Amino acid sequence: MGNIAAGGPSLPQERRLVTEIPGPRSRQLTARRGSAVARGVSSTLPVYVDRAGGGVVVDVDGNSLIDFGSGIAVVSVGNAAPAVVEAVSDQVAAFTHTCFMVAPYEGYVAVCEQLARLTPGAHEKRSALFNSGAEAVENTVKIARAHTGRQAVVAFEHAYHGRTNLTMALTAKNMPYKQSFGPFASDVYRMPMAYPFRWPTGPERCGEEAAAQVISAIESQIGGSNVAAIVIEPIQGEGGFIVPGEGFLPALAEYARRSGIVFVADEVQTGFARTGAWFACEHEGVVPDLIATAKGIAGGLPLSAVTGRAEIMDSVHVGGLGGTYGGNPIACAAALATIATIEDQDLVGAARQVEATMLPRLRALQERFPGIGDVRGRGAMLAVELVKPGTKEPDAGVTQDVAKACHARGLLVLTAGTYGNVLRFLPPLVMPQHLLEEGLDVLEQAFAGLGTSQPEAPSTVISTPA
Ligand SMILES: *Cc1c(COP(=O)(O)O)cnc(C)c1O
Repeated sequence: MGNIAAGGPSLPQERRLVTEIPGPRSRQLTARRGSAVARGVSSTLPVYVDRAGGGVVVDVDGNSLIDFGSGIAVVSVGNAAPAVVEAVSDQVAAFTHTCFMVAPYEGYVAVCEQLARLTPGAHEKRSALFNSGAEAVENTVKIARAHTGRQAVVAFEHAYHGRTNLTMALTAKNMPYKQSFGPFASDVYRMPMAYPFRWPTGPERCGEEAAAQVISAIESQIGGSNVAAIVIEPIQGEGGFIVPGEGFLPALAEYARRSGIVFVADEVQTGFARTGAWFACEHEGVVPDLIATAKGIAGGLPLSAVTGRAEIMDSVHVGGLGGTYGGNPIACAAALATIATIEDQDLVGAARQVEATMLPRLRALQERFPGIGDVRGRGAMLAVELVKPGTKEPDAGVTQDVAKACHARGLLVLTAGTYGNVLRFLPPLVMPQHLLEEGLDVLEQAFAGLGTSQPEAPSTVISTPA
């Protein structure tokens, strides 16, 4: 590997701060970036990364941070996971690209076979591979329209499906995703979401009532026979880790089946073991017609997929699907190694173990801090929603304060939510237990420090044993 410093799980698994966050070398890079990188591309935590692996990210100043983000649910198998590194190295030395549409190769076929085996449902399946989550979701709509001969697409409040023109139309939140970028694709209809914490009659009735509202609105406002697809995240990601009220997904899937509508699960964030199942639809026994995957699929290499019923997928004419890089051989090699790693290391079980560790501690934290209105999620996709105590009024300010305090103490956390008031936790599934616990300690300290007007002393230098 020449003089490239190795990352991966052999990196010391410790939280270690040797400078303030961000440190001087990161601040230099931030200054350089300002005159080269477009302002529209932002970073949650501007520490520049040198290496990463297991449960840590090491920056250019030598700080080792606990990673509760996984690059947004991507490196579930860990950064520079050994099997991924080996598979990618072998593939990159053999050939880097021919374009599957020009001269195909086995890796693409093998990934499609794995997707057929792993995704919900025993029916005959086909897959097509792309580069990004948005591209996969966009293709689910193309395929559903080709199959049904219909045009309307149903999406939901708080949805996030990407940043291309069609997926912006599907995405709910204006700032920062849509503001000033219109006009948007037409024939997209937004429906209420079964959001248990904010459902007027309470969480128990949320799923059933929301499904009835959605079905009634589709029938009266669009007409079920005009709808090509219902597109939904089985747990909403950017929208705030909203686990739909129980029964909502099965009711919509059943309505779609009755009405000849293609039921599309956007499992871009929830897929590949993240929620303690291979796919989040499994938690309620829902079998989607089409499923979009990306993020966790390939250990950090860009790859996405649409997998679905053979008769729907194959309704598209020859040549109708594709793209220059879709299913790139290096990304396919990474995906095969990622899938093998998830199985060999039982990372589905590991995600459940993350839930077993984190949920009780987050609930205990909620007892102490009345600003934590809700604790939710599944597996290693967990979140707390912050509100003004005693109300459901979102508190984005405190959310930012806690995130900043975590960052200053060496814990990388992300925020989310339509109202910017959700702290979300997405640790790599290979996160060592001691780091998971320590990350929770840091989170507790960040909450405990709230309102003490003692923002994290930026010069704190701590060191913990591996
Ligand atoms: C991230 C995400 C997307 C978009 O994926 P990109 O690879 O960023 O285009 C789509 N849907 C969901 C649910 C996501 O979390």
